[in-house]
Amino acid sequence: MKELIELDKKHFIHPTTSIMEQQEKGPKLIVEKGDGIYLTDKEGNAFIDAMSSLWNVNIGHGRKEIAEAAKEQMEQLAFNSTFSTFSNEPAIRLAKKIADLAPPSLNAVFFTSGGSESNDSAIKLIRHYWKIQGQPERNKIISLSRGYHGVTAGATSATGIPQFWDMAGHMLTGFAHAKTPYEIGTTASIQSIREVIEAEGPETVAAFMAEPVQGAGGVLIPPSDYFKEVRKLCDEYGILFMADEVITGFGRTGTMFGIENWAVEPDLMSFAKGVTSGYFPLGGVIVSDQIHEVLKEKSQGVLFHGFTYSGHATGAAVALKNIEILENEGLVENSRLMGEELLKGLQSIKEESVIVGDVRTVGLLGAIEFVQDPATNTRFSPDLKVTSRMIEALHERGVICRGVTYDGTDIVCFSPPLIINKEQIDTLIERLRQSVLAVQQELE
Ligand code: PLP
Repeated sequence: MKELIELDKKHFIHPTTSIMEQQEKGPKLIVEKGDGIYLTDKEGNAFIDAMSSLWNVNIGHGRKEIAEAAKEQMEQLAFNSTFSTFSNEPAIRLAKKIADLAPPSLNAVFFTSGGSESNDSAIKLIRHYWKIQGQPERNKIISLSRGYHGVTAGATSATGIPQFWDMAGHMLTGFAHAKTPYEIGTTASIQSIREVIEAEGPETVAAFMAEPVQGAGGVLIPPSDYFKEVRKLCDEYGILFMADEVITGFGRTGTMFGIENWAVEPDLMSFAKGVTSGYFPLGGVIVSDQIHEVLKEKSQGVLFHGFTYSGHATGAAVALKNIEILENEGLVENSRLMGEELLKGLQSIKEESVIVGDVRTVGLLGAIEFVQDPATNTRFSPDLKVTSRMIEALHERGVICRGVTYDGTDIVCFSPPLIINKEQIDTLIERLRQSVLAVQQELE
C-alpha cells in the first residue's frame, strides 16, 4: 500500500486534481474492485458509488457479460481502421442501434473515443456543414454559462466555467456564452441567447449547444418549456441546435436521451459515457438526416477528420452489449422510478434540516443544495467549505459523491448506477441524512 502511494505521487499526474493535495496526502482511494453500485478499496472498505464514478457506469460495476463480449470481440477482431471506408460489423451495428434509439430525424453517427472528442467533432462538423454551403463566416458556437463540454480545445472553449479556460491562458475565438436558465428561468435565458446572437452578428453564428441537464455545473435542470423555446429561437435565426448528451444519454434521466424530457429534436447530439457504461472509452456524434444529406451532397474529397479509434470494433461490441443490458433489464424505466424515490428521500431530508435549499432529480440525476437560509436562498460563505465538509461526511459513511462550489454555490450531486434498487436508495438517503445533520451541527 505504502509503495503504491509513493509511486502514485511520483509518477501519476491525475486529471482534474490538485497536484499539491496529491503530493501532500497521496491518493484518496485506491480502488480494488467494483461490484454493482459498490466500489471497494484495497483495505476492503466498501463505498456506494453514488456518482456512477463519473456519471457513466450506468449498468453498474463488475458486469461479466461485458467482459465476455469484449473478450469474444478481441479474439475475433480487436481493432481495425475505419478510415477510407474500411469498416467492421460491430461499428456498423452500433451506428444502426444508436440511430434507432435517437430521435427519428437523427440517423448517422461519427464515432470518437469520448465526450470531449465528440464535442470537438461536432463543432468541426457544424463549421464544415456551413462552409460547404458557402457560408464559412458562420462559425461561432454559442453555449451556456455553467455548461461543461469537456477539455479539448473546442470543448473547453464551449464550456461555461471560466476556471477551465484559465488553465492554459485563454480559450479559442469563435465561442460566446449566454446565461444559463438556472435561477433566472426560461425567458431571461432565451433573451440572453438572443442578445448574444445579435451582438455576435446572426450571420456569423453556426450553432447553439447545451446539455439537456447541466451536470458538472451542479445538476441544473432547465424549466419544462426551455428547450422548446431554444428550438424556436434557433429556427428563427436558422442556426443549428446541438444537445450534449454525454451525461444525459443512455437512460440517465429516465429516458433514453435527456432531450426527450423536453420533447424536442436537436440537429446533432454528442454522446459518450453511458454508451459503454465506462467499460470502454467510446463516444460519438449523431447528426440529422438534413445534415447528413448536405455532407453527402457537398462534402467533396476526404473529410479531414477522424480518430484512430473511431469505430473501434471492441468498443462497439462493448457498447452493443451495454445497450442490450439497459434494454433487457428495463434500466431506463428503473432510472425514472428510482429517481422519484431519490427525490422523495431528498425532500424528506430538506424537511428535517435547516440548511437544505433546492432538491431536484430527473431520472437518476439529482442534487441537493445547501444554503444558510432556505427562506431567502442566502448562500454560505465559501470559507465555511460546506460542500467539502459534506463530501467528507458522506465519505466517512461509505458514500462517494461529487460537490459543486462554482460561483458560490454548495451543491452535492447524485448519479448512481441505473441498477440501484429501492433498498439501496433508502441506504443512500439514510447515510446522506446522517451526513447533513452532522455537518449542520458542526456549523451551529
Ligand atoms: N460533455 C459533458 C456534458 C460532460 O459531462 C463531459 C464529462 O464529464 C464531457 C462532455 C467530456 O467528456 P470526456 O471527459 O469523456 O471527454
